[in-house]
Amino acid sequence: MKLIDKLRNKRHLEDYEYEYLLTKLSDNEKAYLFEQARAVAQENFGNKVFIRGLIEFSNYCKNNCYYCGIRRDNEKVERYRLNKEDVLECCQTGYQLGFRTFVLQSGEDDSYRVNEMSDIIRTIRDKYPDCAITLSMGEKDKHTYEQYFHAGANRYLLRHESINEKHYASLHPEGMHIQTRVQCLKDLKEIGFQTGSGIMVGSPKQTTQNLIEDIKFLEELSPEMIGIGPYLPHEDTPFKEEAKGSMDTTLILLAIMRLMHPQALIPSTTALATIDPTGRDQGILAGANVVMPNLSPLTMRKKYQLYNDKACMDDEAAESLDSLNKRLEKIGYTISYDRGDFKGEKDV
Ligand code: SAH
Repeated sequence: MKLIDKLRNKRHLEDYEYEYLLTKLSDNEKAYLFEQARAVAQENFGNKVFIRGLIEFSNYCKNNCYYCGIRRDNEKVERYRLNKEDVLECCQTGYQLGFRTFVLQSGEDDSYRVNEMSDIIRTIRDKYPDCAITLSMGEKDKHTYEQYFHAGANRYLLRHESINEKHYASLHPEGMHIQTRVQCLKDLKEIGFQTGSGIMVGSPKQTTQNLIEDIKFLEELSPEMIGIGPYLPHEDTPFKEEAKGSMDTTLILLAIMRLMHPQALIPSTTALATIDPTGRDQGILAGANVVMPNLSPLTMRKKYQLYNDKACMDDEAAESLDSLNKRLEKIGYTISYDRGDFKGEKDV
């Protein structure tokens, strides 16, 4: 199909062409889109999928995002915080299983002093010099990001959620601004972090036009990592009645991202695995090349619910790696135990 070939070659389309891809593809055209995205992923990464060990180290959050299950005002959440020893234990388990990237994710928990956090990062860095450390802990000032970088963190995930100011404001309470997020992303890049951004597909009030704006923002930002998953409701949030996002649109957007950003590290997200039992596989078949199994202690995982029915809650990391391997083999892929840094030339 011409439009899809054009996207693969030019890595850019006009707005109405993106709209066609997002809303009008026939089943055959979708199959072709995924095939092309897969081909580009395979050109760059072979039949390999990188793994990242996710450590959800705190569910305290000062923010009140309307969509998120661990938002500040959700009083039903039992809050927890891992200390340095707990985090190191997760890393050790992960390292033994072969993980070479640790992703430290949390709510925006200011109780970890910058020094304390830097100390955790530095300790992981010293103990595991061959591993990448990824942070995903929200908006901080540039100086703080710098300290974390100098302590040894390499990557940072911060989804922009929506580049449209009005739409962003409808997802977040007053006081949170898309401009702040964009500034954070710029700071992170300047400092030298491999930087990830992205959105939820089908978040409340999101329009196709919003998605196109997000595609164009990501084109300009050219992040090393791109996180895309469907929005899923959580019963204890103001958005509890809102419909979940579409798996189809999520897969289409993943494939578009792969064609536009051939070298990017794109996870097949837990949200995708949650919306459909085959979601994780389908994400990879649409061009994703990363999965992020959970290394958090089992007892904590239930308390880190960004949305309801989160997948893979009960599997020990080892078990989940095993079943991941088996599933990947079924679709012709295997796990890569490499660190999986961003390798590409930046688009000019
Ligand atoms: N507090 C950090 C990291 C945790 S949230 C931060 O804000 O960056 C990580 C991602 O989960 C968010 O960026 C958001 O896109 C996604 N998320 C949160 N709630 C969700 C929901 N209800 N459905 C799907 N994804 C959600």
